[in-house]
Amino acid sequence: MKALIKTKRGKGNVELVDNYPEPQIADHEVLLKVKAIGMCGTDYHIYTDEFPSNPPVLLGHEFSGVVVKRGSKVQGFSEGTRVVSELSVKACGTCVYCKTGNAHICPQKTSPGHGIDGACADYIKMPYHLLHQVPDTVSDEEAALVEPSAIVVHALLERTRVNVGDFVVIMGPGPVGLLALQMAKIAGAGKIMVVGTTADEEVRLPLAKKLGADYVVNCQKEDPLQLVQELTGGLGVDLVVEGAGAVSAINMGIEMLRKHGKMCVIGIPGEEYIQVKWKTSVFKAIQVIFSYSSSSTSWDLVLKMLEKKVLDVKSLISYKAKLEEWEEIFRKVSEGKVIKAVLEP
Ligand SMILES: [Zn+2]
Ligand SMILES: [Zn+2]
Repeated sequence: MKALIKTKRGKGNVELVDNYPEPQIADHEVLLKVKAIGMCGTDYHIYTDEFPSNPPVLLGHEFSGVVVKRGSKVQGFSEGTRVVSELSVKACGTCVYCKTGNAHICPQKTSPGHGIDGACADYIKMPYHLLHQVPDTVSDEEAALVEPSAIVVHALLERTRVNVGDFVVIMGPGPVGLLALQMAKIAGAGKIMVVGTTADEEVRLPLAKKLGADYVVNCQKEDPLQLVQELTGGLGVDLVVEGAGAVSAINMGIEMLRKHGKMCVIGIPGEEYIQVKWKTSVFKAIQVIFSYSSSSTSWDLVLKMLEKKVLDVKSLISYKAKLEEWEEIFRKVSEGKVIKAVLEP
């Protein structure tokens, strides 16, 4: 089958081949024909080798597919069922995390797309207990974006919680930021500000406005901190969503928060150590909530939001292409020219 492979560690080393063997399913697994694959920053960072991978391995962790073959022990999910799949493959099921519904942080977990073979291919195999059926009213392309949406739901609605009426600031209008904006609205936020840079002015900030942001700010032209002071009478905001992973954004977020304010951290910085305004954080007694990956319940919630049409992921898909165009896509992702690209095998 056709497959996009990271052949070995190091910068680059990605190639599209025609003759990759089809996955062989075990009793508890299903074979999925891949329908749509979302490309994200992580895929690009696997390409540049800034994100760890276990080559040779197929890329692609945001996907939707249809069941074409079932192992003998699979329950439900008959052939032809359209599905998405959580990524907690090989989670042990017995550790403290697995037993408390947090298989996504199990130390044994291995994810498709970098740890084991991913979805940038004609077929992928998955254990059936990780599958979620896709509602008829949700397209394959939309379903490919359930995974990044679930990350944001887990961070913002499960771990952090947005209170009705909260003033929320979102740092970074990338896919995560644009999803966070919508989640904050769904949760009843009072006012929402999205902060970006000049590079975001053409596409991302206008889309943030369209998706319901009350204020969009280019921080290279206007001081978001000053605007926050004006809009809150000097008090500061209730919640900052850090989706950029940039030190300057983290510190600006700390400055913007009111006392007892909350910061929800989804962005991953490049370095292990970064300089943050620790003393200011102590004096304000802010709460910093880190979040990583997505819970099973967050997948259910996203699928319900898509079915009820309260979450718009369609507007985020700014580029559709075939797998053959992967190099072009990676270039566009690296330049920030597309919000989300969706590929078809
Ligand atoms: Zn991703
Ligand atoms: Zn476990």
